[in-house]
Amino acid sequence: MQTMTDKIYELICRTSCEIPDDIESALEKASLKEKKNSPARQQLDIILRNIKLASGKKQPLCQDTGAITFFASCPKSFDKSSFRKSAESAIIRATNEGYLRKNSVCPLTGRNDGTNVGPGSPMIYWDEKEPKNLTVKLLLKGGGSENVGIQYSLPDDSLEAGRDVDGIRRCVLDAVFRAQGKGCPPSIISVCIGGDRASGYAEAKKQFMRRIGERNPDPEISKMEKRLLSEVNSLGIGPMGLGGGTTALDVFITALNRVPASYFVTVSQMCWACRRGEAEFARVKI
Ligand code: SF4
Repeated sequence: MQTMTDKIYELICRTSCEIPDDIESALEKASLKEKKNSPARQQLDIILRNIKLASGKKQPLCQDTGAITFFASCPKSFDKSSFRKSAESAIIRATNEGYLRKNSVCPLTGRNDGTNVGPGSPMIYWDEKEPKNLTVKLLLKGGGSENVGIQYSLPDDSLEAGRDVDGIRRCVLDAVFRAQGKGCPPSIISVCIGGDRASGYAEAKKQFMRRIGERNPDPEISKMEKRLLSEVNSLGIGPMGLGGGTTALDVFITALNRVPASYFVTVSQMCWACRRGEAEFARVKI
């Protein structure tokens, strides 16, 4: 019988080697939109070849394992510590077998114990809303794209950004413009309006689990997403920063309540290697 560790191990291997179909299809469409023989088209075609090779050879899509993050939904009485133990064993196995590069180091000494497990790795966010089953989503987020994440506190005089929709827009465009080719675009841009400093980053990161084209149900926010996607792509940064019309594949925006004194706009960016996966564990023993 398959154990929880086996199933998490399979999820890790699949997520590391296979890009989600909606991302691949968005990259294909983007390639066709770029001019033939342009650097943008060449970069996108290299990325698409890389995706096919990784999937065919069952090898990681990128050398950067990235931050290993689980978003898990479970029944109230589920034993979360047993999940962590299984997840850690699965990560160590996937690392030993080359599905994850040894990529987690001590922040002060840089020492790498070769397991990808340690304080803060993996990160697990829990949501107790599933009545029976355990649903696990996994995100592997590369360091290059994480480095260009940024948080603004409005008003921001340097951007002439006030506490309004135009202010939010200015923050997003500034974040993408500053990043240029860093973070391996075409990217997915995720924005959290409001929250506090910690929840803003966490909530923005969660949005990367959305499929390309999945709009926020709030019509006002959905309108902002579409407008910003078009504006970001008119910046001309392009794939890998080499110019072109595909700087982002999508823009996802979410909102959290804030206290009146604060108005944070948190912008997180995900590289083209958007490695997300999901598995359901039916009839979890509770
Ligand atoms: S940012 Fe993404 S594509 Fe770039 S090196 Fe890191 S994981 Fe790979």
